[in-house]
Amino acid sequence: MKLSKKQFKQDFEERLASKFATNLTKAGHQETYATLASVVKHYYSSIWTADNQYRDEVGKKQAYYFSIEFLPGKLLKSNLLNLGILDTVRDGLADLGIDLDEVAKVEPDMAIGNGGLGRLASCFMDSLASTGFPANGNGIRYRYGLFKQKIIDGYQVELPDSWLDNGNPWEVRRADKAVEINFGGEVWLEDDGKGKLLPHYKNQERVLAVPYDTPMIGFENTTVNNMCLWRSEVPQDLDLKFQNLDYMRQTSMLSAELYPDDSNYDGRLLRLKQEYFFVSAGLQRILRHYKFTQKKDIRRIGDYIAVHINDTHPALCVPEFMRLLIDEYGVGWNRAWDTTVKVMSYTNHTILSEALEKWPEDMVKNLLPRLYQIIVEIDRRRTAELLPKVGATLVHNTRIIKDGQIHMANLAIIGSHSTNGVAKLHSDLLKDVELHDFYEIYPERFNNKTNGIADRRWIQISNERLSGVLDETIGKTWRHNLNDLSLLKHFKDDEKILKQLQMAKYDNKLRLAALIQERNGITVNPEAIFDVQIKRLHAYKRQLLNVLHILKLYFDLKDEPDLDVVPRVFIFGAKAAPGYHYAKSIIKCINEIANMINNDSDIDDKIKVVFLENYNVSLAEMIIPAANVGEQISLASKEASGTSNMKFMLNGALTMGTLDGANIEIFEAAGEENNFVFGLTKDEVYEYYRNGNYNARDIYEQNPIVYRILNSFIDGTIPNIKSEGREIFDSLTIYNDEYFVLRDFNDYVRAQKDLENLYRNQTAWTKASLMNIANVGRFSSDRTVREYADDIWYIKAKK
Ligand SMILES: *Cc1c(COP(=O)(O)O)cnc(C)c1O
Repeated sequence: MKLSKKQFKQDFEERLASKFATNLTKAGHQETYATLASVVKHYYSSIWTADNQYRDEVGKKQAYYFSIEFLPGKLLKSNLLNLGILDTVRDGLADLGIDLDEVAKVEPDMAIGNGGLGRLASCFMDSLASTGFPANGNGIRYRYGLFKQKIIDGYQVELPDSWLDNGNPWEVRRADKAVEINFGGEVWLEDDGKGKLLPHYKNQERVLAVPYDTPMIGFENTTVNNMCLWRSEVPQDLDLKFQNLDYMRQTSMLSAELYPDDSNYDGRLLRLKQEYFFVSAGLQRILRHYKFTQKKDIRRIGDYIAVHINDTHPALCVPEFMRLLIDEYGVGWNRAWDTTVKVMSYTNHTILSEALEKWPEDMVKNLLPRLYQIIVEIDRRRTAELLPKVGATLVHNTRIIKDGQIHMANLAIIGSHSTNGVAKLHSDLLKDVELHDFYEIYPERFNNKTNGIADRRWIQISNERLSGVLDETIGKTWRHNLNDLSLLKHFKDDEKILKQLQMAKYDNKLRLAALIQERNGITVNPEAIFDVQIKRLHAYKRQLLNVLHILKLYFDLKDEPDLDVVPRVFIFGAKAAPGYHYAKSIIKCINEIANMINNDSDIDDKIKVVFLENYNVSLAEMIIPAANVGEQISLASKEASGTSNMKFMLNGALTMGTLDGANIEIFEAAGEENNFVFGLTKDEVYEYYRNGNYNARDIYEQNPIVYRILNSFIDGTIPNIKSEGREIFDSLTIYNDEYFVLRDFNDYVRAQKDLENLYRNQTAWTKASLMNIANVGRFSSDRTVREYADDIWYIKAKK
């Protein structure tokens, strides 16, 4: 949009006066932020309205991305950037004596997601709007987002994230568009006199779902999509006998809290209720909108909408869409089924077995009696149809209802036309191993969509310093098409440009060093290698491997204080699921090891270990631009894709990584010689599984370095970790090291040595860094969403 600085300043001052009855000299940060957001909202509201109008008139097909998590972070700068007014507003505010960066800090992170899965959904929201696709989000407006992490005495402590206390300026409550959701009770079918069976209900629990819309603004275009988040409330006309506090509490619980379990299945009834809640609400709204605006035959809805099931949590979309079409809109079973399969598509995000959702049949039957009938009927018809075609074994292995449980992944695959993995390796594992039986039956449904990241947030906003260097070197087209970063290759031997890249990195390191000083009271050397591992804490991600290597360096220096090492700062950020004891023990150990090393005068600043608390999107935006190295060291086959690996690459960090997830594609694009590859391959891991011949105890007993490091967890060397140290020691030596940490240790140490040697040659290092940036184009989520649009949803971008 067009906006002059003069106009902005006038709008801002007027709004400040009308909204808060105050002026520039008296306004506090909260008032300044709320005023700014209000002005920005005014700027985009006409674009938003116009795009909605356009969609209804043109009636093009739209996609709806159903996700139980979104992780947008802060929206202020992103909205300013995408509207094309970031610089104007920054300058205008500066004229008024206001620092935009200070104002932006006031906004709480919108953290209604756990990690990669939610962040991917938000990167997609940005990319879908920025590439002009009509595609919207659908989720839950959790009153409390992911817990805030405090580190006290080295332990993780969880505090509530009450992010809505000061209101949320971006959302619009649409009470007129509320729908009702029903749980429990009894259902029976009765003939309606015209030969149709219609359901009748008794004693159902009624809940009102109220949508809150947040605009997803495209980058310098006219597209504004909608992220619809549902809040649960008590229906206005609720029968008096239900109007009690218990009912109110029950109802508000539905959208009260995000489940803080990352990839771990949690079998609580409330979770299932949440899943049905946002699925039913979203589908009801879509159908009503279709009927209202299109006035076309409901049986043609498959030509106008696509619904995406992001992981299994929204898999009830399949039976709920069937229910709505059949019971509410009078469509026959066969037509409803064909439409459902055509409309639905599904993404699998993990092969970890503990994350495969299953619900006890009785629970579904009691909570969702009509859906249960439909699921049984889907399963029955499919079994009857397929038995003669593919035989009993395949049918049995792929049943939706098995062993008294409803298998959500099976439901999603069977009820949709597309199942995709999130990186090449992961999609191949789905086809060849994990979902092989489904692949035999429905080979045409399987495909890969390698994840991506919204590059606007992960460089333009978070790394203005590097963005400036890029603009001056290769022009600005990369801001619209990340593939244009390949122009940088021409400068790989240009010493002036390499120097500028180094200076940009150095400035970002200074910025992070200041944050570390302020938050942790640790002084770090900006010349040191900034070696970063930031992600959820999980055994398979192997933060422990990183820790063992740090201890090795520490003991090496203790033995030989004059050893010539390149100084390193090891930086961690990670939340552990509150119930995940082992992960919390690792956090405690990292913090105690940090205390031990940081306060050891023998070590000086040769090694520093920093654990930054409360890892979230905003912190990632501070850390990643300053990283020299990104640690992506999961056991091969366990990390479906990873996306922080792409953020690091974009910001010129080199990857220390295993051949897992999208790392493989990163190495392919940027060159193995410009990164550090180590560890078992997926095939070697599966070979161990097949033969059952991994013996971690042998490594512990036979490798003296490993022996000394592991003993330090239990012999008092590392202080204050009595039970935690023992827990970790036992997991490796007695419980046979589930994720092959010890097996990969030696090769990891070797690769770390290679890394250190390359860093000694700053020109060679920076060249490698440049090659990572120059080849990152394909990891833009703009590319990813185009593939979804073309191959799965069949939607077209606005020209
Ligand atoms: C990108 C991101 C993730 C995902 O990180 P991985 O290393 O790919 O698991 C998790 N949390 C936040 C806040 C992120 O920005």
